[in-house]
Amino acid sequence: MTNYKPPYPYKSFSLHNYRKIPQIEKLSAEQLEAIEVVGRVLPFKTNTYVINELIQWDRLPEDPIFVLNFPQKDMLVPAHYERIQQLLKRNAPKSEIQQAANEIRLKLNPHPAGQLELNVPKIQGEPLHGLQHKYQQTVLFFPSHGQTCHAYCTFCFRWPQFVGMDELKFAAREGSLLVAYLKAHREVTDVLFTGGDPLIMRTKFLAAYIDAILEADLPHVQNIRIGSKALAYWPYRFLSDPDADDLLRLFERVVQKGKHLALMAHFSHPVELETPAVQEAIRRIRATGAEIRTQSPILNNINADASVWAQMWRKQVNLGMIPYYMFVVRDTGAQHYFGITLENAWRIFREAYQKTSGLARTVRGPSMSATPGKVQILGVSEIHDEKVFVLRFLQGRNPDWVHRPFFARYNPDAIWLDDLEPAFGESEFFFETEMRHQFQKKAPHIELN
Ligand SMILES: *Cc1c(COP(=O)(O)O)cnc(C)c1O
Ligand code: SF4
Repeated sequence: MTNYKPPYPYKSFSLHNYRKIPQIEKLSAEQLEAIEVVGRVLPFKTNTYVINELIQWDRLPEDPIFVLNFPQKDMLVPAHYERIQQLLKRNAPKSEIQQAANEIRLKLNPHPAGQLELNVPKIQGEPLHGLQHKYQQTVLFFPSHGQTCHAYCTFCFRWPQFVGMDELKFAAREGSLLVAYLKAHREVTDVLFTGGDPLIMRTKFLAAYIDAILEADLPHVQNIRIGSKALAYWPYRFLSDPDADDLLRLFERVVQKGKHLALMAHFSHPVELETPAVQEAIRRIRATGAEIRTQSPILNNINADASVWAQMWRKQVNLGMIPYYMFVVRDTGAQHYFGITLENAWRIFREAYQKTSGLARTVRGPSMSATPGKVQILGVSEIHDEKVFVLRFLQGRNPDWVHRPFFARYNPDAIWLDDLEPAFGESEFFFETEMRHQFQKKAPHIELN
């Protein structure tokens, strides 16, 4: 244990108790109403660390962490906002509000197209619902106890998992199914624990899964990754929680077994890197032999600014972390609020990248995690008098697609891959025929985008 005990207990706040947040009086009547209305549709959860150490309450309403955790009026389009607002005003029954919220959620397109059916692997013909295997080397694992987080990001597309729309929930019952799958798939080098946030789990649950992999003698599984926002939302997970030391010992066991342990840490803003608690947590994690790689989406109203990214990447390197991905968002509840154009994302990436030394240039992006793969926007260029986007796959459903430059007609309004048309009068992108074949085989009723 360390001396970094928080001077307050861990306590989370959501729709039913947010009025007990001590700083709540700093919110205007409109902001309080937004919590009531938008919080019925998008998930809302914050905690004592976020409100005491991250949010700068004198910077409301623009404070980035406030926007990251607290529902804002403009996160719903006016028609949706008014619908819930009216129901609340006339004290509609709970079930009616719930019904309306569910309808709005479904309209917000909660699941990235095809993810449910296209990427769920099978073993002996049985689908494994807690696993996703999209790219050859890496299996995603969604432990059933890790389907929540220490606080919720207002942009997050994982929200169906938090709001109880059960048919959309990926969850594994058993680590043993994972091990059986890994035994049958020697091409897999990486297992990525994801969620929610797997570090919401008590260490003994996480250890049950990880020790099962370590004990199964799977030499082809070389890297264990844990995707988590606990460093940003509750660094005391690594410092003073009752099982913090057990967690660090688990990391050490992975390393001693000759495996690489990568904590894929989600940081959205440099503010999250400034507290003594997070800096000490980073130091302790690194002392186990684990590496910390960082990633975040680029989000309007939170971090759509080159100096913010440059500052974030420089500070991460300074603290011993490795910048990894900048993502473009789609498929979030509030794309109209958080989304930025592909061109702007690329400009911000490029400008920030120019401001860092080579040590931070391990970062890749901006990248869209789209149905065919992770597509990076390399830039805007002009070829034979035609203005184009230059793109490439960083990951592809077919590995042969990776790192082949391809071109789309320039479109300043495009925010996603499906807004793009091939350049030079071509009728399709090079990967589309094969994509269609894969879809028809596995999920014929899903529209390709
Ligand atoms: C991003 C991602 C991975 C990991 O890709 P890396 O480039 O190896 O980090 C694995 N599976 C899915 C579905 C992903 O989106
Ligand atoms: S911590 Fe991750 S999974 Fe949880 S709400 Fe934020 S982005 Fe979503």
